[in-house]
Amino acid sequence: MAASDLINLSGLIDDAKCFALVRQHRWPEGARCPGCGSGAVIRDGHDDTQPCRQRYRCKTCSGRFDDLTGTVLAGHHQPLRVWVLCLYFMGLNLSNRQIALELGLDASDVQAMTEQLRRGLAAKTPAVELTGEVEIDEVYVVAGHKGQPAAVAKRAGSGAGAGWRARRDAARWRRTSRPSSA
Ligand SMILES: [Zn+2]
Repeated sequence: MAASDLINLSGLIDDAKCFALVRQHRWPEGARCPGCGSGAVIRDGHDDTQPCRQRYRCKTCSGRFDDLTGTVLAGHHQPLRVWVLCLYFMGLNLSNRQIALELGLDASDVQAMTEQLRRGLAAKTPAVELTGEVEIDEVYVVAGHKGQPAAVAKRAGSGAGAGWRARRDAARWRRTSRPSSA
């Protein structure tokens, strides 16, 4: 049974906080016009269907924009909180299928979303810290070594393995010394 059968997670997420998150990461020093880059912008009401989505008007070029204009999060039919959850699940390394189950969406929709988020994240980074917290690389290195003792022994025997061997010994020392020092 998917967790979404028990809990509608996206229904528990606060829309206002999602938009505040985007604003905070997109414009840490205040909104800037995506058209001309000017910081001389004024608030100009809210989106007609999304009351937490702030609209702005640029005093320099008279352009109009809102919190999501110019990001991958704009112009899609999924609410922002669904995108934020999708990002969070990506950070947990869930598959598109698992994310679709959790969010109650079609797998094809989720695939399109994750592709857009991966493409757009590097450039736009509205919520990049959601993926940054997960230290996947270190976990994989240790698990791989444990699963392939022959390969590890071979590398440890070569000169190139000396650095790795030192790190392994240091790690082992930290592991074994932790209980007695605690
Ligand atoms: Zn402007």
